[in-house]
Amino acid sequence: MLSRDEMRRLLLARGPEQEQLFAESRRARNEHFGAAVVLRGVIELTNVCRVNCDYCPMRRDNVRENDTYFLAADKIVELAGLIRDNGIDVILLQGGETPALMPLLEEVIPRIRALYDDRVEILLNVGNLKRAQYERLKAAGATSYILKHETSDPALHLSLRHETLESRLRCMRDLQEVGFKVGTGLISSLPGQSLDSIIDDIELAGELGVDMCSVSPFIPAPNTPMSIAPIGDNELALNVIALLRLRYPQLLIPSVSALERVGSGGQSRGLDAGANVMTVNFSSAADQKRYLIYGKDRFVVTLDHVRGLVRSSGLELGGSRFIEQPLTSGVAA
Ligand code: SF4
Repeated sequence: MLSRDEMRRLLLARGPEQEQLFAESRRARNEHFGAAVVLRGVIELTNVCRVNCDYCPMRRDNVRENDTYFLAADKIVELAGLIRDNGIDVILLQGGETPALMPLLEEVIPRIRALYDDRVEILLNVGNLKRAQYERLKAAGATSYILKHETSDPALHLSLRHETLESRLRCMRDLQEVGFKVGTGLISSLPGQSLDSIIDDIELAGELGVDMCSVSPFIPAPNTPMSIAPIGDNELALNVIALLRLRYPQLLIPSVSALERVGSGGQSRGLDAGANVMTVNFSSAADQKRYLIYGKDRFVVTLDHVRGLVRSSGLELGGSRFIEQPLTSGVAA
């Protein structure tokens, strides 16, 4: 096991030392997962959110000025059909944290399952809910859930999200007890975040016993209280991916679009660093513009982009790890 001193050194690795770190993390990934990269198709349900994260343009204080939307159930099912037609068997339904999503989710999840004859993983990313609501979503047919801890530093978490870390962790425990596969995630290079705090993030992912963990470099977004903070360091985010892979070879780790936003070629480097998940955006062009996750000039990931990256990394497109009969072992090439 790596000591904290070794992790501190490796987080700062650059040049040949970093390439050596990535070679080891790729070896760990390939031993555990082979060459398959899990492909997800994401549908962005709404840009309305009750939370007020200082780094997010969809924060509550912006809602009145944003061009808000909720997708209709029929539209969500139609997009899910498009994802299925592209051979992808993980549907990520993501949106701001709002109670208004509950009835919509309970309607669309069974309809999407029917589209796939149940051979689908339905992955949700819709925030903190009550345990009884998680039970209802599980009963409706959801498989997995992303609820990122963002930062494991309780004071930093509270100051940036205006919510307690403990409430987030309690929801994660509820999700696990209800039977979801659970993903966490962290933002690296947050203003006020130390290297030791990032090591705590890595340790927390292990303590939580999650199945997935993402790493996003901080992106200062327009119309937020953090709009003039310095942009995050891609190399640091990549090293966190590599360390997570070495510590927990069994984790699903995405190569997120924020890596591409911070530096061209960033998602390819994410795969080089040991990531094994990619997410393709299936929201309509108009809704992509309104889902302001990193501001209006976000990098939108297409299936062609992912196919090219995966091939040039010497990897293969693959399906869900959480369902017994995946739709396909090789997504539409
Ligand atoms: S980061 Fe998520 S929870 Fe926070 S304001 Fe944005 S959409 Fe809401």
